[in-house]
Amino acid sequence: MRRKIIIPVAVLAGVIICTHLLLVFFPFKNLSSFESKPVSQIFVDDTGKLLQITALQDGTRCEYTKAADLSRDVKKIFIKTEDKRFYFHNGADLFALASAAVQNLGNKGIVRGGSTITMQLVKMINQDSTPTVSRKLSDIFYAHVLEAKKTKKYILELYLNNIFFGHGAVGISSAARTYYGQTTQELTHEQLCCLAVIPRNPSLYDPLKNPELCAERACNLYNKIFHKKLTAVEFIQFLPSKLYTYPYEAPHYIRYITSTNPELLEQDKNADSRHILSINLELQHYAERLVNDGLTQAAGSRISNASLLLIENKTGKPVAWVGSADFFDNEHSGQIDGVLVKNQPGSSMKPFLYALALETKDDTGHSMYTPNSILADIPQEFGGQTLYIPSNFNNRFNGPVRFRVALASSLNVPAVSILNSIGVKNYLNKLYELGFESLRQTGEQADLGLALGAAGVPLNELVPAFAVFVRDGKDFAGNQIYTSDTARLIDDFLSDKAARVTGFGYSQVFETDYPSIFKTGTSNQYQNIIALGATREYTIGVWMGNFSGQTVVGKTGSSLPAWVAKSLLDYIYGSATSYSNLAFPEPENWKKEKICSLSGMIAGPDCPATVYEYCQENSTPGKCTWHKKENGELKTLYPAEYQQWARKTRPEVQIEYSDTPLEIHSPKNNSVFYYSQLQKEKFAIPVEVFGGQQESLTVYYDDVFYSQVERPFSFSLPVEKGSHTCTVECGEEVRTVIFQVR
Ligand SMILES: [Zn+2]
Repeated sequence: MRRKIIIPVAVLAGVIICTHLLLVFFPFKNLSSFESKPVSQIFVDDTGKLLQITALQDGTRCEYTKAADLSRDVKKIFIKTEDKRFYFHNGADLFALASAAVQNLGNKGIVRGGSTITMQLVKMINQDSTPTVSRKLSDIFYAHVLEAKKTKKYILELYLNNIFFGHGAVGISSAARTYYGQTTQELTHEQLCCLAVIPRNPSLYDPLKNPELCAERACNLYNKIFHKKLTAVEFIQFLPSKLYTYPYEAPHYIRYITSTNPELLEQDKNADSRHILSINLELQHYAERLVNDGLTQAAGSRISNASLLLIENKTGKPVAWVGSADFFDNEHSGQIDGVLVKNQPGSSMKPFLYALALETKDDTGHSMYTPNSILADIPQEFGGQTLYIPSNFNNRFNGPVRFRVALASSLNVPAVSILNSIGVKNYLNKLYELGFESLRQTGEQADLGLALGAAGVPLNELVPAFAVFVRDGKDFAGNQIYTSDTARLIDDFLSDKAARVTGFGYSQVFETDYPSIFKTGTSNQYQNIIALGATREYTIGVWMGNFSGQTVVGKTGSSLPAWVAKSLLDYIYGSATSYSNLAFPEPENWKKEKICSLSGMIAGPDCPATVYEYCQENSTPGKCTWHKKENGELKTLYPAEYQQWARKTRPEVQIEYSDTPLEIHSPKNNSVFYYSQLQKEKFAIPVEVFGGQQESLTVYYDDVFYSQVERPFSFSLPVEKGSHTCTVECGEEVRTVIFQVR
C-alpha cells in the first residue's frame, strides 16, 4: 500500500527536479549581455553635490539601483500594478493569462497581455515584442528559465531598473530623477503611483502631455493600494510639472577624466557608478564667474577665451577646472579644453630656470648663482650659430640686477644668460622631471627661447609643476625635484613685493593678505597671457587669449589673468581669520646678510642703498667694491660690461671706470647675422667694446683701418654678406672677432 504511494511521488519529485535542473542549465543567450549593459555614471563633487549623470549612447539615462536600496513601497506599488502574484508563480501566471484571454476574446482584440514581471523582463532581454502567440509562448518558457536561474529579488531588481518611462528615463531611479528631480526614497506614495502607471504606455500616460489620463490611472492605483478615495482631479497636483534639467557641471574635466579612463563610462551595474571627484562645485562656479568677468573686462583686447585650473597642493587633484568660458559657445570654440591646449607660457616658466640655476655648480664645485648674484641686464647676444637677442618686455635695460630682482621683475636678458650658461639640455631634463611631457617634441627646437617660455605647454602641466615650489621642492609623486631650500628661496623671491617693482612698478594686483606667490607670462607674439599663483594649500593657473591664435592687444600677463587668479584665492581665504598656517617656511641653510643693493656684496659704509639677502652660511660674499667715497664724493665703479650702459643711462652718477682688459663685448666671436634681421637694424652691425687703458680706440674692418672711436666704445659696422673680421686696438691691447653675414 505504501509502495503504491511512494513510487508515483518519487517519480513526480524526480520529474520536478529534472525539469528544474533542465531550466537552470538551459542557455539564455541574451541574459548575460543584458545584465552587463553599461549604466549611467554619477559624478559628484567633493561635498556630494551632483555634477553630472552621464547619458548612455542612445541618449537615455539609467541610474541603476540595487534591490537592497529600493524601498518596500516601490516594490509593493509596482508588484500591485503589474503582477499581483509575482511571489507565487514560477514565471507565468496562468490565472492572469486565462483572464486576459477571456477579456481579449470579449473585446475582439488585444487589451491585456497577462504578462508577469518576469515575462516582461524576458521581452526586454530578448528585445522582441512581435505580437504573436509563438513569441508569447517563448516568453512563458524563458520566464520559467529565468525564474529557475535567478532569485525573485534579483528579477524584480533587473525589471525595475530597465523599464522605460519615456523622456529618456530607463529604470525607476532615472524616472524619479527625470520627472521629480529626486531619488526614489524622496518620493511620496502619490508620486510613486504616478510613475508606476507610465511604463504600460509611456507616451499615452506621459504626465506632462496627458496629465488627465495619467492622473486617472495613478489615482485608481493609489486608492486601491492605500485604501483612499481621492478623485483624479485632486490627484493632478501630484503629477510632475516639468522635466528635471540634468546638471552639466565641470564639463571639460569630466570629459577629460572619462576620455583618459574610458572604463568609467562603460561600467555596468556591478561596478560603483557613483564617482566622487575632487572638484568643489562652489569654487568651480566661482571660477567660471571670474573667467567670464575677466573676459568682459578684456573686451577690445581680442581676447575671446580663457581657462583656469585650480589644484589642491596635498594631492595635486583639480578643485576647479574651467576649460573655456562657455562650453556651449560654439562661436568661440567653447568645447575646446584650454586647460589641455599647449600655449606659450612666456615668463611664467622662469622660476623653473632660476631654481635650477641656484642648484648648478661650476667646475670648482661652487654655486654658479646665489640670491645676491648680479646679472647683466644689458643688450646682449647669445649663441654662436643661432643669434638670439632678447629684449625686455618694456624694452628697457636695467644694467646690473640682483638675481632676486631679475626673477621677480621677470627680466629677459638675465634669464637667457642664465640658460646660456647652465645649458639648454640640463634645463630641458629638469623640465621633463617637472612633468612637462609636451616639451619632449618642441623643447630642443626652442633652444635659448626656452628661457622666455617660447615652447608651448598646457596648464595641466604648468600648474602642478609650479606647485613644486610650495611643496618644498617635491612633485606629486614624491620626487624631490629641487631641494627644499631652493623651493623656499623661490617662494621668497616670488612673494617679494619690492623686488617686483623693477619690472611691474607698484602694482596692486599681486597684493594679498595671506602669503602667496605669483608669476605671470606673455607669449612672444602676445597671443597668450598667463598667470600662476599659489599658497601653501592651492595652486592656480589662468590662461587668456583665443583658440584661433590671434594676437592679444594691450594686456599683459600681469593684469587680467593675475586678477582672476588672485580673486579666486581671495574668495577661498576671504573668511579666514588667521593665515599663520600659510606662512612659507624659511630656507634652512641660508642666513640673511645686509648687502649692497647694486653690487650684491656685503654692504660697506659708503653703499647708498642696502637690502637683506639670503647668503650661504659658509661663503658670504666680500665687501662692496663698487662704491667708494673720495673727498666726500660718492663714486661708483662699474665692472667693464656695465660701463656703456652706465654712461648712457646714469648721467647723474659719478662713474669711475676701473682698469679692465680690453674686450669686444659684441658681436661675439663666430656670430652669424642674418641679412633680413639686420634690415630692421638699419643695415649696421652694432659693436660694443669694454675696458682698455686709453680713451681712444682704433678700429680695423676686414684688416683695413675703419675709424678712430672715443669713449664710450660703441659704434657700428656696414653690412656685406660674407665672412668678416673686426680688430680693435687700445694702447698696447689688440682684440679681434670673426663674424658672418648671411
Ligand atoms: Zn655698494
